[in-house]
Amino acid sequence: MTDQLQVNRATFDEVMLPNYAPQNMVPVRGDGSHVWDQDGREYIDFAGGIAVNCLGHCHPALVQALQEQGQKLWHVSNVWTNEPALRLATKLVDATFADKVFFCNSGAEANEAALKLARRYAVDVYSEEKNQIISFKQSFHGRTFFTVTAGGQEIYSDGFGPKPGAIDHAVYNDLASLEALISDKTCAVILEPMQGEGGVMPATPEFMQGVRALCDKHNALMVLDEVQTGFGRTGYLYMYELYGVEPDIVSTAKSLGGGFPIGAILTKNHIAEHLKFGTHGTTYGGNPLACAVAEAAFDIINTTEVLAGIKKREAMFRQKLEQINDKYQVFSEIRGEGLLLGAVMNQAHEGRAKEFIAASIEQGFMCLVAGPNVVRFAPSLIVEEQDIEEGFKRFDKAVARVVAGD
Ligand SMILES: *Cc1c(COP(=O)(O)O)cnc(C)c1O
Repeated sequence: MTDQLQVNRATFDEVMLPNYAPQNMVPVRGDGSHVWDQDGREYIDFAGGIAVNCLGHCHPALVQALQEQGQKLWHVSNVWTNEPALRLATKLVDATFADKVFFCNSGAEANEAALKLARRYAVDVYSEEKNQIISFKQSFHGRTFFTVTAGGQEIYSDGFGPKPGAIDHAVYNDLASLEALISDKTCAVILEPMQGEGGVMPATPEFMQGVRALCDKHNALMVLDEVQTGFGRTGYLYMYELYGVEPDIVSTAKSLGGGFPIGAILTKNHIAEHLKFGTHGTTYGGNPLACAVAEAAFDIINTTEVLAGIKKREAMFRQKLEQINDKYQVFSEIRGEGLLLGAVMNQAHEGRAKEFIAASIEQGFMCLVAGPNVVRFAPSLIVEEQDIEEGFKRFDKAVARVVAGD
């Protein structure tokens, strides 16, 4: 074997585009909820690769699926189909509202497909004029130009020239603002059942039900972006179950592959039939390697034990965060659902969420932010109880440091 090139955080600034600003420590290995860096330092990981590593790092069942499929068949293109994709699609259809599945490689691609399908459906069934897409402020739907324009933060879509048109933004959890924008020219309303990047903000039941009713009234498709909330993250296979509202299209990615890149949309037959042969596609979508890993993740996540376990863990997380807050008075509320939780900065600590990430890393702990005011937790859905104990011991110390202004 040849000597490996020595690389470190400084290498990033030399050879990578500066669109990210990674932390100084470079992770090299993971196991369950633990991660080790280049210096052998250990961390407890409650960031979960931004709500991706639903079974932690290197779960044996996923490693096995990857290795077995890796020795059989990696890629054939969509000129052929393959067994892992057909098995995964069958399982997703059996477990959800959907009749049909389209596979792609990321959340943005899933939303891109969902929005293209919604537009095509409206053109085919109604008219060319029915093309308005309504999204919500603070929402996040990915970084392709169509999806980032649908997203509710202009700082992410400005400065790239003319944007895709006919996209309007209402106010999340404010039905009146949607009612003011929606009409028979609306082809789709896209929303997250809980805004992830936008601050871990769940939809109210009245809002979700109201969106469904307004979509029905105007023959618009209800597109639920479950890229972050889906695949067990909130204690339901998909979060729409919590609201008792049936969407028309669901996009899913992140947890779906447990760390292997894969995305998908799920929909009903009468909509699916409009994505006719040749209308859309992607080279890697539904490749056997990704689908084999996702199938292994599905078999573990979609069990009553694991889904119930997520609710139990949520209670522990909330209790630990409340205890820390009793001690330091930093949060105004703990919100979210299942294991997508946000600790919201109170007025005295407004805008300081980011400081908790750096302080946490110093204590051997990984967490996330969701905007300037929310510390976000998206751990493994099967995180061990002793790791929760130890993780929050470390986070407690990090909070102490931030509060002391160190
Ligand atoms: C992460 C995310 C996306 C984008 O997914 P990518 O895989 O990064 O393209 C879209 N929607 C939501 C709600 C997300 O959290």
